[in-house]
Amino acid sequence: MTPLKLNAVSLDILRQWDNDHVWHPFTPMSAWIDECAPIIVRGEGFELIAADGRRYLDGISSLWCNVHGYAVPAIDRAVTEQLQKVAHSTLLGLASEPSIRLARALVEQAPVGLTKVFFSDSGATSVEVALKMAYQYHRQKPEGSEDRDTFLCIGHAYHGDTLGTVSVGGIDLFHRCYKHLLFATLTTPAPIATRVPTGYTTESWLAFCFAEVGRLIRENQSRIAGVIMEPIVQGAAGILVHPPGFLRHVRQLCTEFDIPLIADEVAVGFGRTGTLFACEQESVSPDFLCLAKGISGGYLPIAATLTTDRIYTAFLGHPSAGRTFFHGHTYTGNPLGCAAGLASLQLFEDNQVLENVKATSTRITERLAVLRDHPHVGEVRQKGLMIGIELVRDRDGMVPFDAKLRLGHEVTLAARRRGVILRPLGDVVVLMPAPAMPLNLVNRLCDVAFECLNEVTKS
Ligand SMILES: *Cc1c(COP(=O)(O)O)cnc(C)c1O
Repeated sequence: MTPLKLNAVSLDILRQWDNDHVWHPFTPMSAWIDECAPIIVRGEGFELIAADGRRYLDGISSLWCNVHGYAVPAIDRAVTEQLQKVAHSTLLGLASEPSIRLARALVEQAPVGLTKVFFSDSGATSVEVALKMAYQYHRQKPEGSEDRDTFLCIGHAYHGDTLGTVSVGGIDLFHRCYKHLLFATLTTPAPIATRVPTGYTTESWLAFCFAEVGRLIRENQSRIAGVIMEPIVQGAAGILVHPPGFLRHVRQLCTEFDIPLIADEVAVGFGRTGTLFACEQESVSPDFLCLAKGISGGYLPIAATLTTDRIYTAFLGHPSAGRTFFHGHTYTGNPLGCAAGLASLQLFEDNQVLENVKATSTRITERLAVLRDHPHVGEVRQKGLMIGIELVRDRDGMVPFDAKLRLGHEVTLAARRRGVILRPLGDVVVLMPAPAMPLNLVNRLCDVAFECLNEVTKS
């Protein structure tokens, strides 16, 4: 092996190596090279610090996962203590203390009835697990085996980037290239009235969406292995906030037709919408709850799929009966990640993080009011600390800007010049402060975001 020479390289060399070797996710790489993105070397509070010494307020929680900030003493301590015991041991054939304790804590916090925890390591894997479990459940359930071959999804859904999760996703730009590799699904329109199809008013369109999910479930009840949705807010679709009652409506339909409901709380979980889990807001218990992103406070890649006794029981029986769930990932239930997850849950309590979310999200609502009459703001969407500001060329017709202008991206670059990290979804400027971010920093984030949005839409 060639000797590694990695110590003390200059910033220029790091930049060169990044351009030479690192292929960044969701990134047009030819544009990347010229942009000289900050190379992060440290985090402190709610700021990230780059190799050149510049500090950046993180306005997107490291892509929606950070909860309590960076270098948080209590989480650092928990991870360090675990590191001194063991960094990793497998859950295949062995148990581990941190995974047992985290499973117990999650069951205590989660909506009622979710008693079993299957660990994995990313949002996509947590959803894959739920899909495969739901599919296998119908073949093995005590009422009699059924071969249910499809899932009902919501339009514009995002559940991750593996082929299974892309199959239940509906973001054309990300997903169309792979369409021949995917399994077939049923899709019901997202109950969103930003742009309604011709012939509908806002009210009649939303009424149609509520009715349509019922019709699809009724007409395909014996084929549907599960209904999958992002409760309350569809994140990657552009922070689309569902009207009150939609989640509950879907839950009632799933109960009526005895179809498992899979709630993907990868983005909305852990305080982002104002409650620990979004399902709480409509007093809903899903049959599967997918958790990732904020589960470890944004520290380490762990994920969990929670489910009920009823689902779990269908997988029991003599080992030779083949009812086992044959699925697992090498780093499943990683002890360091679980230690971080436990410390994060403790901090929710100790620091009253949900109280903070109440205060900061209310302040953001007040601040967003200045955009109400902005000529290039088509819609402002907010639920808790998930905010999407949709930029449009013409507000009355909701006419988008030319995508080539990459205006959302331009806002990001302008914010970076002012020491704030943002990342848009197309022309939707996203603000996703960490649930524990204090009020003064949330105010600064709003100041800079609005300033940049004005600068970019004026020119
Ligand atoms: C981010 C996200 C995922 C995928 O999580 P990864 O950890 O990136 O695989 C799945 N579902 C939702 C709703 C998400 O926002």
